[in-house]
Amino acid sequence: MSDFRPETRAVHLPQPPVEGSRPIGMPIYQSAGFAFDDPELMGVAMTRPDDAFVYGRDTNPTVRALELAVSGLEGGAAALAAASGMGAINTVLLALLKPGDHLIAQRSLYGGTATMLNDLAGRFGIAVTHVPENDPAALRAAVRPETRLVYLETISNPMGLVADLPAMCATARELGVLSVVDNTFATPVLCRPLEHGADVVVHSATKYLSGHGDVIGGIAVFADPDLYGKVWHFATELGAAAAPFTAWLTLRGIQTLPLRMERHCANADLLARRIAEHPAVSAVHWPGLPAHPSYELAAKLLPAFGGVFSFELAGGRAAGEAFMRSVRLARIAPSLGGVETRVMQPATTSHRFLGPEDLARHGVSEGMVRVAVGIEHPEDLWADVAQALG
Ligand code: PLP
Repeated sequence: MSDFRPETRAVHLPQPPVEGSRPIGMPIYQSAGFAFDDPELMGVAMTRPDDAFVYGRDTNPTVRALELAVSGLEGGAAALAAASGMGAINTVLLALLKPGDHLIAQRSLYGGTATMLNDLAGRFGIAVTHVPENDPAALRAAVRPETRLVYLETISNPMGLVADLPAMCATARELGVLSVVDNTFATPVLCRPLEHGADVVVHSATKYLSGHGDVIGGIAVFADPDLYGKVWHFATELGAAAAPFTAWLTLRGIQTLPLRMERHCANADLLARRIAEHPAVSAVHWPGLPAHPSYELAAKLLPAFGGVFSFELAGGRAAGEAFMRSVRLARIAPSLGGVETRVMQPATTSHRFLGPEDLARHGVSEGMVRVAVGIEHPEDLWADVAQALG
């Protein structure tokens, strides 16, 4: 390049040789496209997502490293990273459904997903039926000839309902229907839905996978490579691909995921139990409490019960707001899965687009407070919560 002029040399920058040693951390391949030595190789690479890299909307080495990591942890054949959790969910559903199809979803879900399912029904003529997350007979009764997909959450947001994955996924398979499971709350540390018969696992990587509140990302993991290939082709058309830096931050977070989950779950255990005993509290929704409807199933299916719970105060919405104004350590903030504890009210945030009827179906009351428990010292968290309840 030294024989070119500065204007040309500034464009065609030299790259250091990498032979002889390699980076321990995954490099960020911040490149929209990749250059080839031969035009024929580029044409071939275009058709093969897991071979050479061509264009960042199709795939990228850093993004591929994240896909391999999560696919490995979930026990899948392949994965597809997306720009957000909703990006991953929409990519999967839009790739697999067409107008006139029917989808069966569990009745209590993350509000964004519930709103999106309402949209699918209204705009694309895809009918949606809701069933309890643990009732294979209801699933069987809801199935129609045009049913394509069953949609579940391992641990539901925000009620903490645990889906009976072995029974629901086996029934879906028997009926010839694909099952898609949102494993955001459980992460592969607590549950690997593909091992229970699910076909696709989706995640908001914004939450525990990245773990530090600095990423918006999503990922879908597939048991069947052919199904992955079909969704990948649609994903390249949709254009909701993950960015390399997002993938890199998520990879970095994943390295401490098992450690963080241990602490999230232990802290939630201590807080949920103590809050449940407080006289101002009328209900706590966390599957680790024996009074929770999912307790027995959760104890069989999961090694721990997750880091998020919600609770209700006898004073309703005003009491919930007063509680949130009084906490000093916990942040009033959306989302979950970060190292710091967050509180919010689902009715005005994650589930805000749902009307009163839908909110009732999801079990979300106006005054409910959701606590996404962080990894701080548990007694500091309890002191904060106790003074706010007081
Ligand atoms: N799934 C669950 C269970 C969630 O809680 C969320 C977001 O809160 C999503 C999916 C959507 O993820 P994102 O916000 O990354 O699009």
